[in-house]
Amino acid sequence: MAAAFNNKVMEAREMNWRDLIPKNPLFGNGNGSEDPNVMPEFLLDDSENGVVMGKMPNETLKAQLGQSTWYFLHVMASRYPVDPTRNEQDTMRFFLRGLSRLYPCGQCAHHIQQHFKKDPPRVGSRDELEQYLCNFHNEVNKRLKKPLFDCKTVHDHYDCGCGPDLVRYKPEEDEKDS
Ligand SMILES: Cc1cc2nc3c(=O)[nH]c(=O)nc-3n(C[C@H](O)[C@H](O)[C@H](O)COP(=O)(O)OP(=O)(O)OC[C@H]3O[C@@H](n4cnc5c(N)ncnc54)[C@H](O)[C@@H]3O)c2cc1C
Repeated sequence: MAAAFNNKVMEAREMNWRDLIPKNPLFGNGNGSEDPNVMPEFLLDDSENGVVMGKMPNETLKAQLGQSTWYFLHVMASRYPVDPTRNEQDTMRFFLRGLSRLYPCGQCAHHIQQHFKKDPPRVGSRDELEQYLCNFHNEVNKRLKKPLFDCKTVHDHYDCGCGPDLVRYKPEEDEKDS
């Protein structure tokens, strides 16, 4: 009995949400598509996944938060793998989904959720993510009547020269040196 239960736990650990979709009608992605760029509907269901924070009435703090977050998002995209694995793509999709719930300005988070519903995150490559986030930022700029950014320059603009590119960090290599 205990062994059977443990086996089930082990099986569940091996799964991810993709494995659950065809087996559970609650988790249908709503459009019958296996397109990895399509966010499944259960991740977009506001009744279960609504905004967590309240409104942020202080406009100065809201702007500071926005500037820092955009910088973080664009630099993250500029260092995202050129050819991400399926797991890395899922991680990015979940991260953006988390951002749309946990962004500390609740009203902005609601706008992020609306945007993701209309135009789900594209995370299939570095270029795709960079362009997606740049266009998303421009959508927000339009709504706030701010100047638009030329997305052709986005990679160079956010190439922070922060260290090795196209190489995934391996802690063992640092451990060998120390
Ligand atoms: C995900 C998200 C959603 C937001 N939603 C809202 C909202 O609903 N309501 C609200 O009032 N505020 C929102 N904000 C904040 C808002 O977008 C601005 O950050 C804030 O108003 C400050 O604007 P800013 O003029 O200083 O420049 P920011 O828009 O913060 O931009 C900072 C810098 O990024 C560069 N930049 C501009 N456009 C782009 C682009 N398209 N791609 C790459 N770089 C660019 C420019 O150099 C600019 O100076 C949101 C922020 C984020 C991160």
